[in-house]
Amino acid sequence: MSQINLDNDDFRNHLYNQSKDGKRLWIYPGRIIGKLYKLRTYFSYLLLTLLFGLPWVAVNGQPIFLFNVLERKFIFWGVPFFPQDFHLVALGLVCFLIFISLFTVLFGRIWCGWACPQTIFMEMLFRKIEYWIEGDDKAQRRLNESPWTNEKIIKKGSKHTLFFILAFAISNTFLMYIIGKTDWLKMVNENPADHIKGLAAMFIFTGVFYFVFARFREMVCIVVCPYGRLQGVLLDNNSILVQYDHKRGEPRGKSTKTEEKGDCIDCHWCVRVCPTGIDIRNGSNQLECIGCTACIDACDEVMDKVHKPQGLIRYDSLNGVNSGTKLKFTKRIAAYSSVLVLIAGILVFMLVTRRKWESTLLRTPGMTYQYDEKTHIVGNLYQLRILNKSMKSQEFQVSVDAPLKLNWVGNRIQQVPPGEMAKGEFFIQARSGTWKQGEKVYVKIISNEGKEEHLKTSFIQPDE
Ligand code: SF4
Ligand code: SF4
Repeated sequence: MSQINLDNDDFRNHLYNQSKDGKRLWIYPGRIIGKLYKLRTYFSYLLLTLLFGLPWVAVNGQPIFLFNVLERKFIFWGVPFFPQDFHLVALGLVCFLIFISLFTVLFGRIWCGWACPQTIFMEMLFRKIEYWIEGDDKAQRRLNESPWTNEKIIKKGSKHTLFFILAFAISNTFLMYIIGKTDWLKMVNENPADHIKGLAAMFIFTGVFYFVFARFREMVCIVVCPYGRLQGVLLDNNSILVQYDHKRGEPRGKSTKTEEKGDCIDCHWCVRVCPTGIDIRNGSNQLECIGCTACIDACDEVMDKVHKPQGLIRYDSLNGVNSGTKLKFTKRIAAYSSVLVLIAGILVFMLVTRRKWESTLLRTPGMTYQYDEKTHIVGNLYQLRILNKSMKSQEFQVSVDAPLKLNWVGNRIQQVPPGEMAKGEFFIQARSGTWKQGEKVYVKIISNEGKEEHLKTSFIQPDE
């Protein structure tokens, strides 16, 4: 595999991990342990604990999060959502997008560096395994370029075995978020022939994760991730990013008796540690920069060695670097904030006032009325559906006011299990002449918590 060319002059013409003839250049980021890396490590352990642990936590026997797209079951923080709640989900997504935009305007790609699962899995799990087995960047390069010996086979074999096991664990965790712990346990404990689709999904996911972290790596951030593509339109000169202080650093190089240089000694350590292979000194608006802070730690280490103040590369805005100004509350930030607060307010209101059940009443299609000549009773047939949108079983009473009568046909709706929809059919009947022609009928539904709903419908009778 070719090596990275650290020639800075043509950085705008091709990706850092791509040769001029379009071939992929393998990146060997140097190992760095600085104060920001340590903080990111602790934070990533917290996130990984939550990610791997939450599928095992249940509230009232239901998972805390579930995104079962196939069966259209969604649980968010223990609150179940149904296709009938689509307006809430849509509003939540709009709110999320505005939040992401506002957050990016202010803090750049802090999400990518600190919380994105791609970065956390890659840098905090897979990369650490690679360093542990193959050594630092130089050792990895040597191993890749060396012929196949027993040592290389053992190292590569154990690394890829561990990668596969980890990809398998990640795949199963994501599967648990999709089908839930109970179904996942069934799938792994029961006869595999009964769970062909689930097991196929498990191995496809494993293959995808293994490929992403063993081979594709930074290409996800550079080529695939839509959030990365949005950076160019969201960032401005006041955004807080990982910045190289060019005023302090340039002209780079080692000072001589005749020529005084800036603080950057042009050691390339910041470039060597970068997981996307870029040179932060070419500017902070490079879309490949995932804000991982590795170059900050690397440069701070160098500054300590040359007895210069830390922070030649640091979190700052371009305006901050150029003129020493602090982050300004711009009109754009104010506009984003107002819209965000408004939408979040509406969303919270809708969530708080969201009903725990929902009902629909329809006249049975193709039927008008039934008339019994002997008893002079007129009957209309209706279909009722009650969806229990809570995590608890709910009981219901369905009735109409006199002189009307309600008679169930077959299954009577009384109790609806959590998250399920009950269906039932009934006649509403009236003795001829006791109900005014054209007058609407109200069907009353009362839940065991005392909440009422009155469903209006028509009642058809023969002309008198
Ligand atoms: S690590 Fe610091 S001193 Fe070294 S090249 Fe990068 S910016 Fe310059
Ligand atoms: S330039 Fe620095 S912050 Fe950006 S990806 Fe590279 S090492 Fe991380």
